[in-house]
Amino acid sequence: MYAYLYLISAILFILSLRGLSSAKSSQIGNMLGMFGMGIAIITTICLPSVMTYKFIIIGLALGGVVGYLIAKRVNMTDLPQLIAAFHSLVGLAAVCVALSAFYNPGSFGIFNLIPKVSLVEMSLGAAIGAITLAGSIVAFGKLSGFIKGKTLLFKFQHKLNLIIGIVLVLLIILFIKSQSETIFITTIIFSVILGFFLIMPIGGADMPVIVSMLNSYSGWAAAGIGLTIQNDLLIITGALVGTSGAILSHIMCKGMNRSLINVMIGGLGESATIETTFETGGPKSHIGNVKLCSPEDAAFIIKNAETVVIVPGYGMAVSQAQHVIKQITDICKADGIKTRFAIHPVAGRMPGHMNVLLAEANIDYDDVLEIDEINHDFANTDVAIVVGANDITNPAAKNDPTSPIYGMPILDVEKARTVLFVKRSLGSGYAGIDNSLFYKSNTMMILGDAKTVSENILRAMKE
Ligand code: NDP
Repeated sequence: MYAYLYLISAILFILSLRGLSSAKSSQIGNMLGMFGMGIAIITTICLPSVMTYKFIIIGLALGGVVGYLIAKRVNMTDLPQLIAAFHSLVGLAAVCVALSAFYNPGSFGIFNLIPKVSLVEMSLGAAIGAITLAGSIVAFGKLSGFIKGKTLLFKFQHKLNLIIGIVLVLLIILFIKSQSETIFITTIIFSVILGFFLIMPIGGADMPVIVSMLNSYSGWAAAGIGLTIQNDLLIITGALVGTSGAILSHIMCKGMNRSLINVMIGGLGESATIETTFETGGPKSHIGNVKLCSPEDAAFIIKNAETVVIVPGYGMAVSQAQHVIKQITDICKADGIKTRFAIHPVAGRMPGHMNVLLAEANIDYDDVLEIDEINHDFANTDVAIVVGANDITNPAAKNDPTSPIYGMPILDVEKARTVLFVKRSLGSGYAGIDNSLFYKSNTMMILGDAKTVSENILRAMKE
C-alpha cells in the first residue's frame, strides 16, 4: 500500500517537472508537485516504522511557520539567494542524517555491524551534503552581496581542488574499510573545504551555472539521505532534482557558452579575476558621449515605430516595472505596432526569472521569444527597449576577447534602428564591466528607476 502511494507521488513529481517545462503549463505542474508532496508527507507520517509523532509535529509546525513567514516577506529579487540558502539546508540535512546513521545505526534498522553498502551510502551522502552545504553558503553570500571584492583564485587552485578531490575519494575508501570515526569526520571536513574552494572563485556572469549546479548537488544529497534511511521516494525525488538540475546547468552553460567541466572544476581562467561587485552607482570609465532621452521623447519614438522589441533584465525585476510595461505594450498593440519580448537565458538573477515576471503581468506567452527566436529580427526592429538589462546586451561578449563575458551569446539589440536604454546610471551590471552600447550613435539612455520611467513613458503615450 505504502509503496503504491509512493509510486503515485513519484509519478506526480515527474508530471510536475513536465508541466514546469513550459510557462503555459507551469501552474498545473506546480499543483501536481504540491499534490505529490502532500501524498508523500502523509504516507511517510503513516508508516508503521514511525514511533513517535512528537518530533514530526514540532518539525512540521516550526518548518511551516518559518517557511510561511519567509515566503510572505521575500522579495522576488531575493529569491536566488533564498534558494541558495535552502540548498545549504538540504546539504546540512544530508550530513546530519549520515552522522546520525553512523552514531545510531539502530534507529535506521541496522543492529549489527554496519554493512559495507550502507557505509558507501553514508560517506557519499555526507560528502555530497557537505560540499552542497559549503558551496551554497558561498553562493548565498555572493548573490546577496555579502561576499564582495576579487573572487578568490590563487595560482594552484585547480590543482589543489583536484588533490582535495583525490584525498576525499581515498578517505571514503578508507572509511568503508575501517569504519573509523576520525576518517568519517575528516571526510566531512575535507568536503566542506572542497565546497568552499569550488564556488569561491566563480563570480560575475558565471553565477547562473552555479545556482543550477548547486540545485543538482542538493538533489543528489537528498538521494543520499534516501539511501541511508531506505526511503524509495526520497531516492527517486533526489535523483529527479539531481538530474533536472544537471540538465538546467547544461542549458545555462549553453546560454553562457561555457563548458560545464570548466565551471565544475572551479573558476574560469580569466573570468575568475572579475570583481564580484554589486555596486550600481555612478558612471564608470567613459568611452564616448551619451545621448540622453526624456520619457516623453521615448514615447514619441515608440509611437512612431512599426516594430518594438522589449528586453527585460534584472532592473525590471528590482523595480517591478513589468505591469507598467504590459500597459505600454497594450497601447502599442492597439496602435498596430508589432511588440515582442526578447528573453536571454541568464537575464535577471535566476533561471526563468524574466518569464515568471512577464507571466505575472499577464503578458501573452506567444509574444515572449527566446534569444535564438528573436536575435535575427533585431536588424528589422525599429525600437529595442532595454529595461534594466545590461550584461545580456553587452557587445564586449562578441568583440572583446579579454572581457570576462567573451563568448557569451548576447541579445543583438544594437542592430535595432534605435535602442532605448532604461536604467538609473551608466554603472555596470552583475559582471562588473562597462557596456559600450551606452555610447553608440543609435542608443538613447533614459536614466531613472525602470518603473518610474515606464510610468512616465506610459503617461506620455496616453497623452
Ligand atoms: P545586469 O545585472 O547585467 O544589469 C542589470 C542593470 O539593471 C544594472 O546595470 C542596473 O543599472 C539596472 N538596475 C538596477 N536596478 C534598477 C532599477 N530600479 N531601475 C532601472 N534599472 C535598474 O542584469 P541582466 O539581466 O542584464 O544580466 C543578468 C546578469 O546576472 C548576468 O551577468 C548573469 O550572468 C548574472 N546572473 C544571472 C543569474 C540567473 O540565473 N539568471 C544568477 C546569477 C547571476 P543601474 O544601477 O545603472 O540602474
